[in-house]
Amino acid sequence: MEGLIVGIIAGAIASWAITHFYYRRSSSDLAIIGRKLSDELKAIILADKRDSLDVAELNELLTKKTIRPGKEGIHRYVACPKCGSPKLVKGTDYVVDTDEDCRVPYDNVSCQDCGWKESDVDREKLKRPL
Ligand SMILES: [Zn+2]
Repeated sequence: MEGLIVGIIAGAIASWAITHFYYRRSSSDLAIIGRKLSDELKAIILADKRDSLDVAELNELLTKKTIRPGKEGIHRYVACPKCGSPKLVKGTDYVVDTDEDCRVPYDNVSCQDCGWKESDVDREKLKRPL
């Protein structure tokens, strides 16, 4: 009888220790993840109604915050793909077509926060006169 009681107590202590260890480890992992994610990323993930996200779903969720579906070129960006800032500025630059000796305009978009920039240089335009 004493052996049974000692076994039950030892089992309870072992169970508590295992649960406590995993709880502490889980809390530690969550704290690390919480520190690594920006407030903006936390808000995006918490706003999603799914119970869990795999890599593809997380990529899709983040892409939707930077890319406007159905748009192409520089017009598809709603936020900077490098830093997530919505402070994007669209503009026009020029390249010189040496064959036609003229300037060819192209659109670009840049981020005011991190300096990221992308251009819509249409190489075919360089082959045609304006
Ligand atoms: Zn940026």
